[in-house]
Amino acid sequence: MTLRVGVIGTGMIGQDHIRRLTEVLSGVEVVGVTDIDQARAAAAAPGGAEVFANPSALISSSNVQAVVICSWGPAHEEQLLAAIAAGKPVFCEKPLVTSEAAALRVMEAEAAHGRRLVQVGFMRRFDADYRRLKAVIDGGRLGAPLMFHSVHRNASVPGGLYTSDMPLNDTLVHDADISRWLLSDEVAGVEVRVPRRSSRGGELRDPVFVLLHMASGALVDVEISVNIAYGYDIRGEVSCETGVAALPNRPATVISDANGIRQAIPEDWRERFIEAYDQEFREWILAASHGTATGPSTWDGYAATLVADAALRAAFSNSFEAVKMIAKPGLYGPPAALAAE
Ligand code: NAP
Repeated sequence: MTLRVGVIGTGMIGQDHIRRLTEVLSGVEVVGVTDIDQARAAAAAPGGAEVFANPSALISSSNVQAVVICSWGPAHEEQLLAAIAAGKPVFCEKPLVTSEAAALRVMEAEAAHGRRLVQVGFMRRFDADYRRLKAVIDGGRLGAPLMFHSVHRNASVPGGLYTSDMPLNDTLVHDADISRWLLSDEVAGVEVRVPRRSSRGGELRDPVFVLLHMASGALVDVEISVNIAYGYDIRGEVSCETGVAALPNRPATVISDANGIRQAIPEDWRERFIEAYDQEFREWILAASHGTATGPSTWDGYAATLVADAALRAAFSNSFEAVKMIAKPGLYGPPAALAAE
């Protein structure tokens, strides 16, 4: 069976996902696209795909069985609610939504539907290196995880479009999610410290240093640097009771020349996580073909949204800001501490 998919938002990541759905993966066909910019949508549409005038026309089309949302964050809520109302599985790029109230509305709609329909685009969970790291921690031979050091470095971000809040409400969500997932834990509170500003970022608040206080008492420190110049560099190291487990440096061709011996660093997220994005969609296609969703859920999107909100508060208060979550609805499985057992 081939899953017929409609894509909303044909910007940078929308185009990349259309490429993988069209050229890389099987069992799926992009039958429709839409974007505020109709010309951009038409240019991105694979042969035979319909260009819809707006997201609601795409979602309600009987030819579209499942929806991929790649518009910008503030548009996600309306599109998610429409897909859920239509009973269609939906892949939504992060962030799920941009406020706690919106996340609660989406969870309520999904719960009323009675079965999971939403997968959130936290692709690190599908990365083979992160999966092996989690298997080591879950295996328990190193004892309980005590600290996680997470490093998130971008070579640069689009000038003008990327504001000072975005390291905390757009970029940090990946580190918040991977911390919760790796440690099978929830974030109880956040501190933010802003070191000396990088001269490369103009007025941008960059870098930022974030401390996540996990419910178990474990601590996570996150470096977010979005103008580091040399490449896209993602690192992670978990200190446990009797040992340390770390993400490996990705293998790359070793170049020896007059400048020394070196290996290339990925340019951006598309290169570093290319296999993870492929795998995230393989698993989404499988679940969506059965009318449901697995992987990172609306609950996970809600949790990341709360962490981002707390981090923004902490950047101004310069002190600990609590993350207060509602009780986990049954649709999303047992609480984190139980899930880890
Ligand atoms: P982008 O290049 O700006 O693309 C977004 C596209 O969606 C634009 O063409 C935009 O049109 C369109 N759009 C915005 N609102 C819309 C609406 N209501 N209906 C239809 N189209 C709409 O941004 P991007 O980098 O692709 O990012 C898109 C999403 O993916 C964001 O949520 C971002 O955080 C996420 N993302 C995730 C990852 C990851 O690693 N998982 C990486 C990159 C991006 P206009 O330009 O005319 O507004």
